[in-house]
Amino acid sequence: NRQWVLRQRPKGLVQPGDLELVEAPVPALNESEVLVRTIYLSLDPTNRTWMNDAEGYLPPVPLGGVMRGLTLGVVEESRSSRFRVGDIVTPLSGGWADYAVVSEMELRQVHRAPGLPLTANLSVLGMTGLTAYFGVTDVLKPQAGETMVISAAAGAVGSIAGQVAKARGARVIGIAGGPDKCRWLTEELGFDDAIDYKNEDVGEALDRLAPDGVEMNFENVGGDIMIAVFNRLKTHGRMAVCGLISAYNATKMPPSPNFARIITHRLRVQGFLVLDYAPRAREMVAEMGPWLQSGEVKWKVHVDDGLENALDSLNRLFTGDHDGKLLVRVSEE
Ligand code: NDP
Repeated sequence: NRQWVLRQRPKGLVQPGDLELVEAPVPALNESEVLVRTIYLSLDPTNRTWMNDAEGYLPPVPLGGVMRGLTLGVVEESRSSRFRVGDIVTPLSGGWADYAVVSEMELRQVHRAPGLPLTANLSVLGMTGLTAYFGVTDVLKPQAGETMVISAAAGAVGSIAGQVAKARGARVIGIAGGPDKCRWLTEELGFDDAIDYKNEDVGEALDRLAPDGVEMNFENVGGDIMIAVFNRLKTHGRMAVCGLISAYNATKMPPSPNFARIITHRLRVQGFLVLDYAPRAREMVAEMGPWLQSGEVKWKVHVDDGLENALDSLNRLFTGDHDGKLLVRVSEE
């Protein structure tokens, strides 16, 4: 049983030596526990924040502890009356490992969506989809004709959020790195416009595309990109703070927007956490399921092979060198 253990708290991008891949025996099961073989490991930008010794929405991963991560796997042994060998499950604390011993209380059964690959359950029908769906429908609540700007728009969450906003009648402008990602947004996903932040000034592009300002910002990045959008929010504009990925490797805090503008423009700025929406997953599946089956909503999954490559894979999230939801295939389905 291989597992990635946190050895030291990274400074900047994760380096070899910050985590170590070690061999450990699989412990015997206690009553109500199951043994889960990991099939897919989800790599999420927030994984990097869990490595820091800082206040967060979950405690930091302790030094010497197995790296926390969301996984999807199959039950190989069970001492639970609720889970049987062969069940596909997502443990809340599976971690970066070949196997995890998990209490039945921390286990959720996965129902394969007909016609969709299993990876959908860790992407568009998993936490990614929940984040995008409720960030749009519950936090921002677009009205037809309003404009929403989304950063990291070609990423896992951003690409779905934009399509949900389109389905609610909004005009959607995505911000992404590079011409290929921008073309994907406008030509395949139906975004109205895309701004390539690596090759153009975001503020100038917004002034050209939305000279009167915008009503909504679905923020995934933070820093200068966020400030450019924030400064163009109209009076009574809304901002959903989903993530601040540009700060996750930063050794000093990036600049903040001018909070006086929240008063002068009566803005509503709201952070949200997907965990709060987990009990409402059915609502999302009810609306998104048919869109996925019909092809109306599209998504991409980037699968890297091998637990041993998880560390290199994680850094893709910060360089943008991936297309869609980033997963590691740890073992065969
Ligand atoms: P993505 O698939 O969007 O991958 C991250 C993307 O961010 C990269 O592909 C890259 O895209 C972009 N990026 C990385 N660094 C920078 C930078 N310095 N400046 C600009 N863009 C950058 O990941 P997710 O969809 O999983 O996550 C997106 C955001 O949503 C993250 O901030 C994450 O923390 C947040 N999130 C929040 C949740 C919540 O509950 N609030 C739940 C899940 C995610 P590009 O190539 O375009 O640069």
